[in-house]
Amino acid sequence: MLFAGEADVFRHPDFDDHEQVLFARDAAAGLRAIIAVHSTALGPAFGGCRMWPYRDEAEALIDVLRLSRAMTYKAAICDLPYGGGKSVILGDPRRDKTPALLRAMGRVVDGLNGRYIIAEDIGTTLDDLRTMRTVTAHTAAATEAAGQPLPVTAFGVLQAIRAAVEHALGRSDLDGLRVAVQGLGNVGMPLCRYLAEAGAALIVSDLDPTRSAEARAAFGARAVAPDAIYGEPADVFAPCALGAVLNDRTIPLLRVRIVCGGANNQLAEARHAAALAARGILFVPDYIANAGGVIDFHQERIGDDAPDAVLGAVARIYQIARDVLERAARRGETPLEVADRIVLERIAAARRTSPGAADS
Ligand code: NAD
Repeated sequence: MLFAGEADVFRHPDFDDHEQVLFARDAAAGLRAIIAVHSTALGPAFGGCRMWPYRDEAEALIDVLRLSRAMTYKAAICDLPYGGGKSVILGDPRRDKTPALLRAMGRVVDGLNGRYIIAEDIGTTLDDLRTMRTVTAHTAAATEAAGQPLPVTAFGVLQAIRAAVEHALGRSDLDGLRVAVQGLGNVGMPLCRYLAEAGAALIVSDLDPTRSAEARAAFGARAVAPDAIYGEPADVFAPCALGAVLNDRTIPLLRVRIVCGGANNQLAEARHAAALAARGILFVPDYIANAGGVIDFHQERIGDDAPDAVLGAVARIYQIARDVLERAARRGETPLEVADRIVLERIAAARRTSPGAADS
């Protein structure tokens, strides 16, 4: 079915010069999906496959475009040889996900001949990737070690928090640090564990009260109502739930020195980085803090994916964040401006030396 905005993909506010956007349909398997390849300048586009009951195609398109762009930025800021891509399957994973649908998705990925490498995301699992691998080689998590669920994203966020705390508060330990964590899922809960182990005092919120209760019992966290988390006095606010949570409504409420968390696309708009800086709040770009997944993937690709090696590699996020924060302070810019420039310079340099460069 066509939708009103479909013809306007090129002029979509989130299009951002995507190299390719593919709408895929397999009626027999019940598949409706979009694959967005933002950039392959630095290497094959890598990114997860989200399965979600989107309201409509327009909502799915916004999600896939934003997430795919973020993947380009994550890989580039870590200086890894990958581009950015993402895919979404329109549907309810609990009801609509079947082996036939996953194989149909795998065939679409296969048709891209390696320009896009698919990984798991919300609504898909490592088992689903195994099913896709029966029809395509272009999936992540192909090794045995990759089957071990390591909390790489949370570990990376912890490194970024350490860097920001050292930079803004001049201290190298987290003992007694007050951290407000929004969202206690695959990222937020293990982040709470790392923080509690480091002696931090936690304030948490989740829409699901059982998760807040779990964090209370396990880490002595203080749970607050979902909307109250923005106004909680703390040293760090760590958004680990949804995107666009830093906006005109919430930024004036914040009573923290640092914002650093795992959620993708935390700023409602790029201008909100300046709004945070104007309030004296240090914002660590989310694509630095949550780059653990792409680093993990790289370790798998180079065959060095034992847990210690992966976590050792993810620990690089500390230095990447430190460098960006220091450069930003020296130049009087926001960390986002500095990080974005590094990314765009790396992409431009790769384009100059790539075989297609002579055409442009
Ligand atoms: P998840 O679905 O496992 O957990 C999200 C949690 O947030 C849920 O417990 C949900 O109830 C809660 N939540 C939703 N809205 C909320 C609100 N308004 N207030 C408080 N809690 C709320 O998701 P996840 O895998 O932990 O991912 C969280 C964020 O991190 C997402 O933005 C995701 O894109 C990003 N991210 C995840 C990974 C990963 O490896 N899982 C990697 C990079 C980025």
